[in-house]
Amino acid sequence: MPTLEEEISRRRTFAIISHPDAGKTTLTEKFLLYGGAIAQAGEVKGKRAKAATSDWMEIEKQRGISVTSSVMQFQHNGFCINILDTPGHQDFSEDTYRTLMAADSAVMVIDGAKGVEPQTRKLFKVCALRHIPIFTFINKMDRETRDPLELCEEVERELGIDTYAVNWPIGCGKEFAGVYDREKQRILFFSGETRGKKVNSMEVALEDPTLDETLGTEKAAKLRDEVELLGAGRDFDMQAVRNGTLSPVFFGSALTTFGVEPFLEEFLRMTTAPLPRVSDQGEVDVFSPDFSAFVFKIQANMNKAHRDRLAFMRICSGKFERDTEYYHVQSGKKLRLSQPQTMMAAEREIVEEAYAGDIIGVFDPGLFAIGDTITVPGKKFRYSGIPTFEPEHFMRVSPKDTMKRKQFIKGTEQIAQEGAIQIFKIPGAGLEEVIVGVVGTLQFDVFEYRMKNEYNVDLRMTSLPYDHLRLIESMDCHPDEIVLCTGAAVLQDFRDRYLLAFDGEWSVGFLTKHNPGLVLADTLSV
Ligand code: GDP
Repeated sequence: MPTLEEEISRRRTFAIISHPDAGKTTLTEKFLLYGGAIAQAGEVKGKRAKAATSDWMEIEKQRGISVTSSVMQFQHNGFCINILDTPGHQDFSEDTYRTLMAADSAVMVIDGAKGVEPQTRKLFKVCALRHIPIFTFINKMDRETRDPLELCEEVERELGIDTYAVNWPIGCGKEFAGVYDREKQRILFFSGETRGKKVNSMEVALEDPTLDETLGTEKAAKLRDEVELLGAGRDFDMQAVRNGTLSPVFFGSALTTFGVEPFLEEFLRMTTAPLPRVSDQGEVDVFSPDFSAFVFKIQANMNKAHRDRLAFMRICSGKFERDTEYYHVQSGKKLRLSQPQTMMAAEREIVEEAYAGDIIGVFDPGLFAIGDTITVPGKKFRYSGIPTFEPEHFMRVSPKDTMKRKQFIKGTEQIAQEGAIQIFKIPGAGLEEVIVGVVGTLQFDVFEYRMKNEYNVDLRMTSLPYDHLRLIESMDCHPDEIVLCTGAAVLQDFRDRYLLAFDGEWSVGFLTKHNPGLVLADTLSV
């Protein structure tokens, strides 16, 4: 029987981030194949069949329980690896960001032909906030790609992180010969589909003349030049990787499984066991026998017959055992977590035990909120909260039937409490008309659907032009007197703080110029 320390030490929990179509699903699938967690390639994909965004129930049915982010676990070389998936553009939501709070590192998949794309940038920003290690996989080398040096430079320039290429591609597309492993001084040869086949490799120093025979003079010369250029640059620094300031870069082709295994091996070598999390009583020892966890996501059950919700928590210390009594710090209540489950690719499984680093989903009788802490009875510390992320889409919302005022207020407040949407007040107006802000537009559909089905309220919804929201830190006039440009408005949150919603970064210039006493908070979190 492995000890608690051994079980925890072998855990790695990472989020996989990318812009849609870069190859995140394909890479995840290949990871799972290595772990034997799924029998055949295609299973992850099948679950994600594209659905019309308007049909929420259909989305639920097709994708199983997790319409937003899901968790997958697999074993490889003695490690137990948890992958947190971050959903694509259609179902992008605050949950996507919150999922990143549960990871200890991130794998960023970049399409070699496209480079850094908008969604990569957004997700990266949140990872960078947490200073977690970020590994870059530059994918689709079997296709024509951009120049690899240019790609690395783009990552550095656009994302503000240093890079260190662990391996270097030899050509791309039809000319793709493989990669050169800089440390091991070894070429891994590309030969189409690699899964199940052993990848041919050859140990060869760059200056060795056999390199010319093997690759041809032209390719060999190019490889020497490029690797020399890299060598003149930055040294590898493990501490910088762990601090999240240096991203190890790997080139490969997920579709043909080329480069996936070396990537996984280096990833496991460079990452550590789950890192301690900070609570209001200081850092909590991951290896302590006492279980503790925080809730990072709550998902309402769309099945009307079961009003329960599912709360996802990241275990931060100790061991979780089913049917044991735990303690919910925020409510002060003792509880047993019923039907705890993990997700193995397409299936859900009831778990009997889980360890620090793991993610479990439990039925929530309406007790939990995002950021809550669960511990063992007697321990009352709280993990630091999960930030709220700046919404990018806004709608003015009111009930179609003014007689439904009460249900409307109850519904909007409850759904906002779950963290599915953010609601704001229009200063001076009543609660029968509010502004709803979301990170991804699918959240509007979900909100509308749930208001109708759970609260029996049809909504009148009007799109608003804002795409930014900042907390007003200070102002030297009454909020009514703020000089606004078109496409800007003053809102209020439920703690009665004032915020400014506006359209485009340029409005900030206008607003600050015309309101010299106005200071806006410069942060993602509101
Ligand atoms: P996701 O949206 O990031 O999850 O991307 P997918 O994994 O669904 O991949 C998007 C498309 O790119 C699919 O058609 C994949 O088959 C294809 N793809 C993924 N990886 C590679 C690769 O290494 N080479 C090539 N040629 N195509 C790839």
